[in-house]
Formats: sequence, C-alpha cells, structure tokens
Amino acid sequence: MSEVTEVIEGNEPGRFDAAFFQRWLSVAASAVDREADRLTELDSAIGDADHGSNLKRGFAAVTDVLEKEPPATPGAVLTTAGRQLISTVGGASGPLYGTLLRRTGKALGDAGTVTRETFADALAAGVAAVAQLGGAQVGDKTMLDALVPAAEALRESFAAARTAAEEGALATVPLRARKGRASYLGERSIGHQDPGATSSALLIAALAEVAG
Ligand code: ADP
Ligand code: MG
Repeated sequence: MSEVTEVIEGNEPGRFDAAFFQRWLSVAASAVDREADRLTELDSAIGDADHGSNLKRGFAAVTDVLEKEPPATPGAVLTTAGRQLISTVGGASGPLYGTLLRRTGKALGDAGTVTRETFADALAAGVAAVAQLGGAQVGDKTMLDALVPAAEALRESFAAARTAAEEGALATVPLRARKGRASYLGERSIGHQDPGATSSALLIAALAEVAG
C-alpha cells in the first residue's frame, strides 16, 4: 500500500482498532450461529449436547451489548464481551471463553490500536488464564488444543493462526479427554472431535476472515 493510499484511508496499516475487534466478534457470532447444530452434535457424542446452544446464546448477547454501547478500545471490546459471556453462558465453556476474552482484553490495556504482535502476546496471556482456570493443558482434548497453537501461530500471521487452530481441533479426535464432562467417558471419548476445540477454531477463523 502506498503512503498516499494510507493517508486517504485514514488508518494506520498493521494496527487494529476497537471496530476491528467488534467486527471479529460479530463475524464469530454469525459463525457460531451457523454451526450451532454441529457444535451441539459434537457435544452430544462426548458431553451433554448443549455446546452449540450455549455459545449461540452467549455470542448473540455479546453482539447486542457491543452494538448498544460500542467500547472505544480493543481492550474494552474484549473485556466487555468476556463479561457478557460469563453472565449468559452456563456450563464450562462460558467461564472459560469469558476468561479468555477478559484476560486478553486486560492484557491489551487501554491502547486505542494494537499490532498483531501485541495481540498475539495478549491472546497468549488469555489462553494461559484458561489453562489455569480449567487445569487443562494441550493434549487433554479441550479448547486449549486449538487455542494454544493458534496464539503461538498468531505471532506469524492471522492465516497461520487459523490453520493452527483448525489442525489443533482435528487433532483432538484420537485423544482421550482428561478434563471436563467428556473425561467421564474415559476411553469412549476417543474418536470424537472436541466441541470446544471446534468452536475455538471457528473463532480464530472469524479473526482471520476480518483481518482479510
Ligand atoms: P459443559 O461441558 O459444561 O456442558 P460446554 O458443552 O459448553 O460446557 O463446553 C464443553 C467444552 O468446554 C469442551 O468441549 C472443552 O473444549 C471445554 N472444556 C471443558 N472443561 C474444560 C477445562 N477444564 N479446560 C479447558 N476446556 C474445557
Ligand atoms: Mg456441554
């Protein structure tokens, strides 16, 4: 992009503002809505068949609250969204996704725009908070199997993060669940894709989509 074009467009290349993060969550909400039945189907195999409906309700509420009062900074968009998820989504995934967004937002502080690199660091802090809250690690067949590699790959590019999340979600199929409801099934959890890792891959794909 030439300098002239940058001035005309009025935005700094390589920096992402509150509107970008709001678009991300709006596209994520559409993806969750579209894929809700599939997420619930995955959760019916190794859980209690509510993951799609849980997230659909949560992300619809997130979109609403952000549209009513658009926060001014990337950090505030994410902390507001996280708070909303915690208060509207039951089950394990509400507090876990809520913590992910709140801690990521907190790590971004009150900057008006952030770089991809700064966001990658903040996302890694959010993912670490999820691991701490749920006591899980990579390989336990949870959302962390998509989120940990995605946060790492985001240091390289948005597209790399998307690929890493999708591969991480697929890699949960042969795993035995060690955390959450699916762990009650023991060996019988093997052979099914984890619903939370699948929804995490959707969220990261939405991010790559808005980043273009
Ligand atoms: P619930 O299990 O309470 O019904 P959901 O169905 O909405 O909640 O979410 C299930 C998903 O939450 C799982 O597929 C898994 O990815 C994630 N999950 C469950 N427990 C944990 C945990 N301790 N750490 C990380 N992720 C977890
Ligand atoms: Mg469930």
